[in-house]
This record gives sequence, C-alpha cells and structure tokens, in this order.
Amino acid sequence: MCFLLDPLMERIMDIKERLREWNGRRYYSLDCFLKKTFRKKLYKLSLNGGMTCPNRDGTISSGGCIFCSEGGSGEFALKCTQDIDKQIDAAKALVSRKADGSGYIAYFQAFTNTYAPAGRLRELFLPVISRDDIDVLSIATRPDCLEDDKLRLLEELAQIKPVWVELGLQTIHEESARFINRGYELPCFDRAVRELKGIGINVIVHTIVGLPYESLDDMTATVRYVSRSGADGIKLQLLHVLKGTRLAELYEKGLVSTMSEDEYVHAAAVLIGNISPETVIHRLTGDGSRALLISPKWSGDKRRVLNRINHQMKEMDIIQGSLID
Ligand code: SF4
Repeated sequence: MCFLLDPLMERIMDIKERLREWNGRRYYSLDCFLKKTFRKKLYKLSLNGGMTCPNRDGTISSGGCIFCSEGGSGEFALKCTQDIDKQIDAAKALVSRKADGSGYIAYFQAFTNTYAPAGRLRELFLPVISRDDIDVLSIATRPDCLEDDKLRLLEELAQIKPVWVELGLQTIHEESARFINRGYELPCFDRAVRELKGIGINVIVHTIVGLPYESLDDMTATVRYVSRSGADGIKLQLLHVLKGTRLAELYEKGLVSTMSEDEYVHAAAVLIGNISPETVIHRLTGDGSRALLISPKWSGDKRRVLNRINHQMKEMDIIQGSLID
C-alpha cells in the first residue's frame, strides 16, 4: 500500500518538525543556533576597538548614517579603549551571575571595526580570538571596508575559531539608502558577502524595519534579498530615534515617524515569514540605549514584544519562510 501525504498534512508535519527544531519558537533564533552549534549558551561581550567610521570622519561623509548615535551604534560597548583584556573582564563581570558554564562572543560593535590598517587589526583581534574563554569573534563593519589584506587576516583568524562579520545593509532600496546617508551602493554589499563567504566567514546582515517612506512590501523585498544573498544570519532592527542624531532632528520637526507596537508586531511576523528557514534571526527588536531613546518608547519591553510577535505569527499561521513562494 502506498501512503501519499496530502499537501496540507505535509505542511502540518513540516511546521511541527520546525517548531521542535526551534524549541517551540516559530523562527530560527540565535539562541537555538548557538545551542545546536556550540552545545551551550554564549554571551556577547560588547567591546570597543577604538575605531571610527569613514562615513563620519569625512572620508565618505561627516554626517554618518542619520540614525547613528555619538557612540557609533554601539552604546553597550565600554567607553574604555585602552586595554581589551580589561574590557573583556569587565564585560564578563556584567553577565557573571547567569553565565556559569556558558561561553562568550567577543563582539566589536561600535563604529566600523575593520576601518584601520590590517596590521593594527591583527594586533587587536588575534589576542582576543586566542583567549580560551572566547568562542567566537564577531566584528561589525561596513562592506566597503573589507580590502584584500583585511580579508586575508579574517581568513587566518577563521582558522582559529569561528569569525562572524556583521554588515550594516539596512535596506536594498537605493533611495532609502541615500536618505539614511548609508554611503555605499548595493553591489558593494553583494561583493562583500561573496568574498566573506568564500573565506569561511559567518555573515550577519543588519536591516532596519520602519525606515521612513518604506512600505511593508519594500521591507519584505529587503529581507528576501538578504535570505538569498548567501548570508547566514539577519538582524531585524526596529527603527529607533536616538538623541543627538540627524534622525532626531527630522523626528522633532515632524518629518518622520516611528512604528506603533501593533504595526511592528504585524510587520515582523510578515517579514519572518519571508526569511528562509535556514537563516538565523539574530535580533527581532531594537538595541538602542534607554538613556538616548526618543522613540518608540514601547520598544523597551523586549520580552513583551517578542511574545506578541510569536503570538501574531501563530494567529496568522506563519512560521519562518512560510510566505516564500
Ligand atoms: S556605518 Fe555604522 S558607525 Fe558608520 S555612520 Fe553608519 S551606523 Fe554609524
């Protein structure tokens, strides 16, 4: 006898299988990826490598991306740039109560962390990745700051331990990219992903949800593009207005607005449905400093927002990737 499953039954079984694999969540979270890959939880240690950014120092522009705060989108990195070992110890102390038996990701977050000569980057990254307590080196940067000598260095580092490179794409739409003053064009991103994947780097792409003048269809096109780009992970960052930014000036003049919680929860559910099930979702909310946050204030309660997104996905019968044709 031949048992053929009808498509509805197949879909139900597929959903059940995914939910089991993703520990009950309807998407492939970073936590789930870490447990599967490293068999333990890893904590991020936000570190400050003392970099700046070509989009702020006048090389590309001096204004920076319009949402970028004084801390170079890395407020959680410690201010001290003198000694990375001391920064690691201090960052570990912050999570010591919950991190027993866990591992650590050394995360260079603020500004553009490959914006320095390769020799200086080697002096910075090699001792960090060589430490016994560090499992992953994660580097946030721009795709236009990955010259050949830096790629060779990253390749060498990736022979020691996993190296993640986080690229700030934000959007695939050139008009939006100009509006936010991103300072590079899409082919530059494509090339960077290709080259990084070619040397064994895990690539994570930052996107922004709720950019002014972008519709849900525009945002969907961006996450679909990232899913197909070869990147391993994606961050969905809710647009935040932070004090001291160009975006804050526009917001205060009433020229731009931020999403309501309901709008965001709905958009996030649809966007996740359009991300390939193999792509790890590293972030689903914002990561702005509370002291600098002007809007949206509701984003402070991350747990509630995440629960609401999960609930919304259930209501809409969405799991990650289910809306891809
Ligand atoms: S590339 Fe990063 S650090 Fe540079 S201006 Fe944009 S957000 Fe800020």
